[in-house]
Amino acid sequence: MIRTSGLVVLLTIILALSAGLSRHPASGQSPVALAALRHPDDAHLRLQWLGVSTWIMSRGEDVVVVDPFFTRPSMWQIAGSIFGGGFQPDVARIKAVLPTLPETTRFLLIGHAHYDHLMDVGYYLRTAPTQPLYVGSRTAHNILKGWAPPKLDFVIADDPARLGRPIRAGQVVVTPFLSSHAPHVFGLTLMDGEVLEPRTSPPSDAWEYKLGQTLMFVIDFLGEQDQIVTRLFINGAASDPGVMTAIPEAFLSRHPIDVAILCVPGWDKVADYPMSVLDRLQPKQVILSHYDDFFQPYVNGEDPHQGMRIVPFAHYEGFVERLTAYYRRRATAPPVIEPKTGDIVCVDC
Ligand SMILES: [Zn+2]
Repeated sequence: MIRTSGLVVLLTIILALSAGLSRHPASGQSPVALAALRHPDDAHLRLQWLGVSTWIMSRGEDVVVVDPFFTRPSMWQIAGSIFGGGFQPDVARIKAVLPTLPETTRFLLIGHAHYDHLMDVGYYLRTAPTQPLYVGSRTAHNILKGWAPPKLDFVIADDPARLGRPIRAGQVVVTPFLSSHAPHVFGLTLMDGEVLEPRTSPPSDAWEYKLGQTLMFVIDFLGEQDQIVTRLFINGAASDPGVMTAIPEAFLSRHPIDVAILCVPGWDKVADYPMSVLDRLQPKQVILSHYDDFFQPYVNGEDPHQGMRIVPFAHYEGFVERLTAYYRRRATAPPVIEPKTGDIVCVDC
């Protein structure tokens, strides 16, 4: 029933959008220069946005990949998958942007199990030369099991024993916290629910990528004495205000949040977002994320203020106005970065 109502909503959206959709030609595509490959010996921490919630955080040998997703099926493919299946990673599109994980990837983080965060992870499970540590929800873990990976080092982060507990690999420490996911439209969160048992085959339609528990992550890059040098925060979905108390004050007082990467879509469907996040974290720098139209192929260099295809219903300008108004009321405002797709932000250059 939920699935049916979700499908009806999706079809309504597709029909509404089809009329006015502006399409960029695929010829706008240019090769992506990956920071993690260009600067393997570099001591600087670089954050590269590859559209949607996909980030590559790299500092020398320590690389963290978040929600790698390049298949980007159209709304028609998503709706059609319910009847015809065939909802598989698009290897050509993946190879055009990130053919394989950087060799020194320590972590692959999964914010939640919707297809735009998880569906290409199965590809990397099978192709990465060295496998990183995967961190995500139980639902994400159980979906990935369907790919029958020969090896899967996975931390089920919504296990109560894991929440709020640091996980270390190399000179990086990741701490997962429980978050929430804003509804998509009409108060409805599409593809809701959990996958409680490991799957025996990969999902074949979009609705099998159930949301599961939503997570947010704090990522610490450590120095030689294991001290925190840089602390990052990322959420892959706009969240309810109450979730921020999951991050204890004592945890935050150990080191400030240097950079907060914030999901834009859904901001107007939950209360007090992103103010609740900013009040709690007081980041020194803010970077916006997840606002490009992921129903169309990735195009490098799209600028949110110069014709970027913004994801439907994100109301991007409204979010920026809200953020500007929030900081106007304060004595100091941190830099707010609105990256183009493919942009590299050097945190400490
Ligand atoms: Zn989602």
